[in-house]
Amino acid sequence: MELKLAGSYLKRHWPRYVAGILSLAAVDLMNVYIPQFTGLITDGLQAGTITMEGVWRLIGLIVLMGVGMAVGRFGWRYFIFGAALSIRKSLQEDLFSHLETLSTRYYNEHKTGDLMAHFTNDMRSVQMLLGPTVVTAFDATVMLVMVLGKMMFYVDMRLTLVAVIPLLLIMYGDYAYGKVMHRKFFAKQRAFSELTDQVQEAVSGIRVIKAFVQERQELAAFAQVNRKNQEKNMDVARTQALFLPLLDLVVGVSGLLTLLYGGYLTIAGEISLGQFEAFNLYIAMLVWPMMAAGECITFLSQGTASLKRIQIILSEKPDITDSPAVKDIPGLRGEISLDGLTFSYPGKEGAPVLESVQVHVPVGGSLAILGRTGSGKSTLANLLLRLYDAKSGMIRIDGRSLYEIPLAVLRRDIAYVPQDSFLFSDTIAGNIAFGTDGKGREAMIRAAQNACIHDNIMDFPGGYETVVGERGVTLSGGQKQRCAIARALLKDAPILILDDALSAVDTDTEEQILHNLQENRAGRTTILIAHRISTLQHADHILVLEEGRAAEYGTHGELMALGGIYRGVYDKQQLEKQLREEGGEAS
Ligand code: ATP
Ligand code: MG
Repeated sequence: MELKLAGSYLKRHWPRYVAGILSLAAVDLMNVYIPQFTGLITDGLQAGTITMEGVWRLIGLIVLMGVGMAVGRFGWRYFIFGAALSIRKSLQEDLFSHLETLSTRYYNEHKTGDLMAHFTNDMRSVQMLLGPTVVTAFDATVMLVMVLGKMMFYVDMRLTLVAVIPLLLIMYGDYAYGKVMHRKFFAKQRAFSELTDQVQEAVSGIRVIKAFVQERQELAAFAQVNRKNQEKNMDVARTQALFLPLLDLVVGVSGLLTLLYGGYLTIAGEISLGQFEAFNLYIAMLVWPMMAAGECITFLSQGTASLKRIQIILSEKPDITDSPAVKDIPGLRGEISLDGLTFSYPGKEGAPVLESVQVHVPVGGSLAILGRTGSGKSTLANLLLRLYDAKSGMIRIDGRSLYEIPLAVLRRDIAYVPQDSFLFSDTIAGNIAFGTDGKGREAMIRAAQNACIHDNIMDFPGGYETVVGERGVTLSGGQKQRCAIARALLKDAPILILDDALSAVDTDTEEQILHNLQENRAGRTTILIAHRISTLQHADHILVLEEGRAAEYGTHGELMALGGIYRGVYDKQQLEKQLREEGGEAS
């Protein structure tokens, strides 16, 4: 599975691999001739058949080979390491774009740190596999074959056989070692993921950790995953430490054996002294490919373990996609109807969060939603955006089931201010203009003015170019919220959803923002989720949710007359207001 993934990328870069491998083969070929030339000099000197000119010629050849090898070594590094880097880049890009397609559910179940580890640690081992490991494996094989060939034909067949027997032993050992290592590396990479995750979560939650004085406890939790990570690394290191010296031993013993046998053959006059010398050099040359095999297996196991982890993410299917039958439409007008909307979150099918909600909002209408915390208000907004999917037909926009609207159109034409406003660590201008490129600075400033944040921004030393901290931490809650509102207003979409988006602003500012909305959004649909009656009362219709059910529905006047939940909330908030005012007078 994971090799198929690597294969599909290798296929795209094969010319570079071919060029690299040819350079590599040329280097090996030249390398393998050097012992033969020195052998020829020795034999010639001993027999007295070689002249000084002949020595110079052979040395000249050796130098030439040396220069050729240097050029070739540059070539293979350039081609193969370059290709591995390119593959890593494409794989990272593909993984990132795949992550962008995955649904909210996926991110509820997977952790940021874990995903980050895939981009760092795993990508590095894949690059190691496709670069250095490919080179080493090929180089070792070529060297092995060439050296053995040279031994066989230039030196002696019997001697070569003695050298080959331990090789078979090593090959079997490599295979077993590789299987064990693959498993161990998989566990090691996962432990590393957990480690990154622990750090990521602690860093992003550092304010809470400090406020609750949980530094020690967090450190203890970190120490635990850190220890686990170390154990998994030790496990890998132990196996390596056991296997690699063993390999060394076999190689050494077989070298001694062949030396012994070669010495015997030379004394017996079966091979010349020059052949014996070349043979010794060849034996030394064999040590490297055999050691390299161990290293290759290590990197192969590690690389494939990482590829497997990446493949697991890549084979994750997005839950929410355009259905194949979807037809392109120019845009939404903004008529919304919920038709017996019932919904439960995936995995909680027995406990619906929304039940039989029936609502109709005409184009340009406004709907306000009130309800206790947990009553399903945000869920309703999520369903409209298809962050989760309700059953077909339960939600219609402009008379079309949501499934008949392309996702891109749906999300483009709904401006949404989520309950927890999120800002990127970018300038304020960049945050407000997010996703609305090309609307111009004036439009952006107008949106900020309508969201009552413009004056605030102008008070910052950097104005609109002020860079906010990660997630907007350097702004106040109310400033963050209003930046998010400005972002949604700039989008100027036919449908606007504000999910409790005025909760952190004072009532005067709230009134001003609502007034601006009314002025600027004539003919366009607005859904307003809030807890304060002052926010909701001017909406065309108000829906009161109670444990996922539509408990009350009507205009402010109707609901006041009804004397139910809405009226209860109204009275309570009036009383609170009165008490506040009286308290203000008393002090
Ligand atoms: P609040 O006023 O506090 O924002 P809400 O009305 O927006 O509340 P929702 O966020 O819609 O409430 O949540 C409704 C119910 O669904 C809650 O009981 C909540 O625990 C549950 N819930 C919310 N999100 C998920 C989720 N991703 N998976 C499972 N259950 C969820
Ligand atoms: Mg909510």
